[in-house]
Amino acid sequence: MWFDNHVHMEHGPYTPLEYPVSWLEQFLDVGRSRGVTGLGIVEHAYRFTEAAGLLPGEWARQRCRYPLAGYTAFLDAIRGSYPMAAGLEMDFVPANEEGIRAFLGRYSWDFVLGSIHFLDDFGLDVSEMQGHYFQRTPEEIWTQYYDYSMRAAASGLFQAITHPDLPKIYGFEKPPEEFLIPLYQRFVEVLADTGVALEINTAGLRRPVKEIYPHPTLLSLAAQSHVAVSFASDAHEPENVGLYFVEAQQLAHEAGFREISFFGPQGTGHITIS
Ligand SMILES: [Zn+2]
Ligand SMILES: [Zn+2]
Repeated sequence: MWFDNHVHMEHGPYTPLEYPVSWLEQFLDVGRSRGVTGLGIVEHAYRFTEAAGLLPGEWARQRCRYPLAGYTAFLDAIRGSYPMAAGLEMDFVPANEEGIRAFLGRYSWDFVLGSIHFLDDFGLDVSEMQGHYFQRTPEEIWTQYYDYSMRAAASGLFQAITHPDLPKIYGFEKPPEEFLIPLYQRFVEVLADTGVALEINTAGLRRPVKEIYPHPTLLSLAAQSHVAVSFASDAHEPENVGLYFVEAQQLAHEAGFREISFFGPQGTGHITIS
């Protein structure tokens, strides 16, 4: 059995104030067919008007259109009735840490995922911004990315850091491993010190890079430091729930993990893998 700790329902046939349970049930049905018995539901914080001042750049601010209350009313309606945990995927912007803390305090989340989608106004996974990858060196991009990731982990705001090597998404040039390994190592040390989990996110297999996040080298370092890991499909459509979890299990096992954590409605749980 699995717990898919990162699914989005935002592409569903709903308006934000009318999230239909039938859309949720499609996610649950596909999940069950792949051995997923619980879902961690998240939406991007950048959908919500209350988050507009916390995000960098026009791209994100233009998407903050819906009241948070619509989403939390949906979560309140399904909590306790479905095998799901109520969460949020929050962009971490170091300069806005206190505002983010206040925003997260608006609701009693079961878990919050910390994400670095933006380096200032550069959206790492925004397809129309791919040109930014060629305006700076790979070393500059990846150094800033892990600097922000470490600060996200150290903030104490998050249960896990999502898709933890996102700048590889398009398969563009990366820094060499001898440059990346010290960055990975420092990041892993912060995770180990703070007890924040690393997310194994299979969505990378659906993106141009065709790799699970994170790279096996980072995952091995995390295993050696006894960092917890959680599983995530990052599904935005029902058909992707639990997709490639067999591959994720194999990757985690090869890295040295024997246990996968999840953030459920009753707190953190663990699944043994072999
Ligand atoms: Zn994300
Ligand atoms: Zn996501």
